[in-house]
Amino acid sequence: MNVGIYPGSFDPITFGHLDIIKRSAKLFDRLIVAVLSNPQKEPLFTVDERIEMIRESINDAPNIEIDSFSGLLIDFARLKQAKVIIKGLRAVSDFEYELQMALMNKKLDERIETVFIMTSSKYSYLSSSIVKEVASFGGCVSSLVPPLVEKQLKRKYKVN
Ligand code: ADP
Repeated sequence: MNVGIYPGSFDPITFGHLDIIKRSAKLFDRLIVAVLSNPQKEPLFTVDERIEMIRESINDAPNIEIDSFSGLLIDFARLKQAKVIIKGLRAVSDFEYELQMALMNKKLDERIETVFIMTSSKYSYLSSSIVKEVASFGGCVSSLVPPLVEKQLKRKYKVN
């Protein structure tokens, strides 16, 4: 079976992530969306909240699994028998860091490939952090995230 893994913080999931998920799910028998549990990053949402928002947003795609991991992505990929890591690329600014990560992961396990999918142009400026910044000041994010995520952001930031 051809398994791909799409890792990220997803704090919270945006339409940019969902676009990459939908497009990459077509390329694999099974796609695992892997939520990084990294308390040092001080996420806004807990891992469970992030998983729930992803689950609600992709509603029942049969070949998509959502899971969480901590530690090395390569170890989690091996555990899940995934041969391909999917990364989304937005701008040149993503490239340098992603290249470094991809080369390091290749060094750790040469059997696992990193594949980059280019963002759709309409989402090229979109990141979880910019969504949080706008939402924290009460700005409208309805064109950037699914309705449930918008609701959860309002709850966290106590804005209407
Ligand atoms: P961020 O906090 O920057 O939004 P994540 O760690 O949640 O990022 O991102 C997980 C993956 O999704 C990364 O590969 C990232 O490049 C990709 N990604 C994030 N936003 C977009 C977008 N708007 N278009 C394409 N890929 C994206």
